Amino acid sequence: MILNSYNLLMPAQIVFGWGRRTELPALAKTLGQRVFLLIGSQTLARQGTIAELVTGLQQAGLEVVTAYAPNHEPEVGDVDQLTRDWSTCGIQPDDCVIAIGGGSAIDLAKAVAAMLTNPHGESVQNFLEGVGKGLTLQHDPLPMIAVPTTAGTGSEATKNAVISSYAPPFKKSLRSDRMIPRIVLVDPELTVTVPATTTAYTGMDAITQLIESYISRKAAPIPQALCLQGLQLAWPAISRAVHDGSDRSAREAMSHAALISGIALANSGLGMAHGVAAALGVHAKVPHGLACAVMLPPTLRYNQRVKQEELALLARAVGLGWNDPHRQVEGFIEAVEHLCHVVGIPTRLRDIGVQREQISDLVPASQGNSLSGNPRDVPPGDLQDLLESMW
Ligand code: NAD
Repeated sequence: MILNSYNLLMPAQIVFGWGRRTELPALAKTLGQRVFLLIGSQTLARQGTIAELVTGLQQAGLEVVTAYAPNHEPEVGDVDQLTRDWSTCGIQPDDCVIAIGGGSAIDLAKAVAAMLTNPHGESVQNFLEGVGKGLTLQHDPLPMIAVPTTAGTGSEATKNAVISSYAPPFKKSLRSDRMIPRIVLVDPELTVTVPATTTAYTGMDAITQLIESYISRKAAPIPQALCLQGLQLAWPAISRAVHDGSDRSAREAMSHAALISGIALANSGLGMAHGVAAALGVHAKVPHGLACAVMLPPTLRYNQRVKQEELALLARAVGLGWNDPHRQVEGFIEAVEHLCHVVGIPTRLRDIGVQREQISDLVPASQGNSLSGNPRDVPPGDLQDLLESMW
């Protein structure tokens, strides 16, 4: 193994464990006196979990300013609106942000925490990669605690927030090393109420992140070591979590794997599946995890010949036992296809709402940070052909 130089960034504190959400007030007190709380799950609100957490924060002497995330992946207008709303409270040095929700709510909160302390840009759009004015964060965001309630994106451990726009259409990141949440509180019990379909989509997002970051051209050694563990845990757990949402060990495995996938992607980048997933999200409104899952097997086939050794290692990590490395890689890709099938992921783009004439828009919209990590170059013509063959 050749060791190149690397950096590793991750949250300063990770608190993981079933039921440990009760520790949120004590953790929040280490960051500030006033909490801007963003809630991303109506289900957890309806069943009283959010009220319990708010009461806990207040009983600990914290002032709590609450907002609900919209029920869609975050858009430029959502970030700008919530930034305006919370700015009217007057930002103080002992303020902090808590997001309790899926990747959408966590990303929205990460972006707003950054915009509140960086008011020089008017709109978050001016900070987004490839579409804005190229502005960068001059100040640290408000310190943040991320409490994921889906097991998939790993956004709780990453340095970016993915923000969409539909006019003009783009799905791009606000990215800065300053944006990694200070504290991550992962209580897998919070994911028990996630419906089966969302469990499948989000879980496949984590698995795609673990695999793509492992074979990325920006892959780094510590995330690679973590990815093997994450994949070993998620591989058998995802279908159990989908078929029985109350399966505690499956939920724990998926939450841990998702967290690792975030650490991995923040330090190693991703690949073609995620590049195209962003385009599918904005042009065909395909949920992020579903888009990643549909793109994973074709991406592996595309990369197969340049990443034989790594894919054979992943095959062995999940217990696929052929001796011949070529057979091992083929077997791994077939096993990924089977896993997608078992959790209900379609294979054709037309089955996830893509119109054939949209393919020529998807190709340029797939360019960006994720695609640049793909281990094999993806010329636009190759991508057009691949997407046509998948339609
Ligand atoms: P999501 O946050 O959009 O949530 C999906 C649905 O599940 C929503 O309706 C939500 O309300 C619901 N939900 C959340 N928690 C629940 C619970 N405990 N019980 C019942 N329902 C619950 O989905 P996601 O896949 O977690 O996040 C997707 C977003 O994250 C996309 O915008 C994607 O681009 C982004 N993302 C960001 C990063 C990053 O590093 N910042 C990485 C990957 C993906």
